[in-house]
Order: sequence, then structure tokens, then C-alpha cells
Amino acid sequence: MYFQKFIFEPSALKTEYGRAIFNSLSSKGLNPQIGKIKARTECGYEQFREGKRTLIIGSRNLSRFETCKPSANYQLPILTGCPGMCEYCYLITRMGEKPYVKININIDNILTIIQNYINNNPNSITSFELSASSDPLPFEEPTGIVSKMIENFADMPNGKLRICTKFEPETSILNARHNGHTDFRFSLNTENAIKEFEHATPSLERRIIAAQKTIDAGYNVGIMLAPVFLNDSWQNDYKLLLDKIKDKLGDNIRTFEVVTHRYTSRAKGVITNIFPETKLDMEDSKRKFKMGQFGYGKYVYEKDKINEAREFFKSEIERRFKSAELLYVV
Ligand code: SF4
Repeated sequence: MYFQKFIFEPSALKTEYGRAIFNSLSSKGLNPQIGKIKARTECGYEQFREGKRTLIIGSRNLSRFETCKPSANYQLPILTGCPGMCEYCYLITRMGEKPYVKININIDNILTIIQNYINNNPNSITSFELSASSDPLPFEEPTGIVSKMIENFADMPNGKLRICTKFEPETSILNARHNGHTDFRFSLNTENAIKEFEHATPSLERRIIAAQKTIDAGYNVGIMLAPVFLNDSWQNDYKLLLDKIKDKLGDNIRTFEVVTHRYTSRAKGVITNIFPETKLDMEDSKRKFKMGQFGYGKYVYEKDKINEAREFFKSEIERRFKSAELLYVV
């Protein structure tokens, strides 16, 4: 179990699902508590670590979802945070005031909105990203949320659930009825990047084994290469990684998605506070400032570097994986 502490917001216990999770945790002696979470005024490494091991079970009624370019049509606003401690994580800015991992369990409300989006788009597939603000797999053991969503999507002919992860699937996920309506992507990176930046996550070998198990369970499986660091040795490092993927997973990979490293000024401040010794390359003068979808800017690699990465991954992936599709390089 990735979490050590469980706190239920009172509203979560008004749902049958919430009460079932509460009873299941109690029966395992995990001592779930009921209460409201207070915002914090500071977040150093210790608060960060504690927050990563604390799961809040709450609920939040919504009427619409945010879009989720480029990976899906919409974000699924069910999970936030993750017990991993990647230094570059885009969620790190949340860890200041509310350094916790959270699940919203009013699934009936969420399923109604999903079905409305699908009904409004009857002639094509509508896709929903469960990983937009989280890595979902660590939530499965305490809550069963991932297999629950997979089985709901199994009955939605024009719906597609998309899940990206660095973690290993529970048996309940491998055995879930999916009908081919769920895409998994395993997030892989070079050995150096994993060792240096992706703390508290499974090794490259374990992720590759997890990908193979997921393929064996009949899911569509792709690879997410993210974040790609365009450092002095990047071409050689990513060639070795692609060779390893080819060697271990062969032609079973359906898709590749590639995301180069980016950061916001706010994230840089939080990262250097939590990881003062970080070796992440965040020198603003070497990057280009770009406004994002949600009205704040981020520092991305210069255009010619991104174009070089685009050419590189296109040719290296095509050369090794004849039947895989490269969806995007951003
Ligand atoms: S595994 Fe993903 S969501 Fe979790 S800390 Fe790392 S980057 Fe963030």
C-alpha cells in the first residue's frame, strides 16, 4: 500500500462507494479518519513526504470537464496527486498549500458528464484522461477506482479511457473487463533520469515488466517518453532506451507520445525549496517562454531544439516499431 494515512471528508461518507472504502480500510486495521483538511502555509521536504502518503477521500460535484490536449479530449477530475516524488512533476505547485493526494468519489456525477460528452459526439470516439493530474495506479489498492472506471468504460462504445502510469497494475486491473476501451501508456525514461529525478517510483525494468503484463491482459499499450531532457547526451540515451523497449516489448506497442521537459516559474520555486540540491536544468535564459492553455506561462526548449527532437523520435521510432504510431512530440 502506497498510503499510510486516510482522511475522509464527511461528504464522501454520504455515498455508498465512500462507505465501502471506509469499511474496507477499517477491516484492514488502517484506521481511516474523518475530518477536513487544513491548508498549510509552508511545505518543505518533510511535509511533502507526509502529504504524498496521505490519501484524502472527498467528493466534488461538477458540471463540466477541462480539455486535455494533446492526450485526450477531456480530463477526468477524479484523482489529484500521486505517491511518487518526481522532482519535475507538474503537480508540484499544488504541494504548497495542500500537499495531499486526493480522490473524488462521487462517480455517479462524473459518469453522467462522461455520457453527456459521448452522446454529444455520436460519430466519433470521445477520450478521457484519468492521469491528467495524477498517476492513477497507486489508488487502485485502497479504492478500486481504476478497475471501476475501466469496467464502466467497457460499456461505452464511443468512449475511450486513457491511463498513463509509472506504477505496476494490481491483479484487479489486469482482470478487469475492458472491451478494448481503455488505453494504457507506460511512462518510461532513461536510467539516469529515473535515478536522478523520479524518486519513489518503480525502476525501468519493473515498468517494462508491468507493460508486458498489461499487454498480456489484452489492453492497448503505448509508451510515454516524458519528460525528455535535451541534454548533451540525449540522442544516445534515448536510442538506448528505444532499443531496450524494442528488445523487451517487441511489436506490441501501439503508440508513442513524447513530451519534452518544461517548467513554470512557480514550479521552479517549489522544486528548489523541496529539493535544494536538484540537478534539473531550469536555466530560464536557455529556454523559450510560452503561454499555456490555462493562462500561465512555462519555459520550454527553443523551437529548433523541439524540431530536432521531433525529427529524431519520428525516425528512430519508425525504424524500430513498424506498427506503432507516434501520436505527438511536444
Ligand atoms: S509519477 Fe507522475 S504524477 Fe507521480 S510524482 Fe511522478 S510525475 Fe508526478
